[in-house]
Amino acid sequence: MIESTELYERLKKEKTQLSEKLEQLRARGRPLAERREGSPYGKREEEADEASGLEKRLALEKWLVDSLNEVEHALQKYEAGTYGLCDSCGQAIEQARLEAIPQASLCLSCKARRAKDTRGAR
Ligand SMILES: [Zn+2]
Repeated sequence: MIESTELYERLKKEKTQLSEKLEQLRARGRPLAERREGSPYGKREEEADEASGLEKRLALEKWLVDSLNEVEHALQKYEAGTYGLCDSCGQAIEQARLEAIPQASLCLSCKARRAKDTRGAR
């Protein structure tokens, strides 16, 4: 049996850390609305640098938001008594997988199937 209280504690800690990182990132960066859509003038290189920096920040922010959502989802499942069950097929998620990724909401085979679908859609 999974020692789920331990995983629950890890999830709560993870949630706190992710929220803090996200806050720091948002406090440091400029608002997304200020993102420039390119300029007709020169300085291409500088702009490219700036754009890739912004892109990295956006990617990091997206990753943090996604991770936070996953962690919150897992905490909700814990409270609902469905923690450790796959969202897609309802089977128990592999214990080793939960220990590695406590916020996992899909079993390995559903996760693999979904990853394939996502790649196909792009
Ligand atoms: Zn599944």
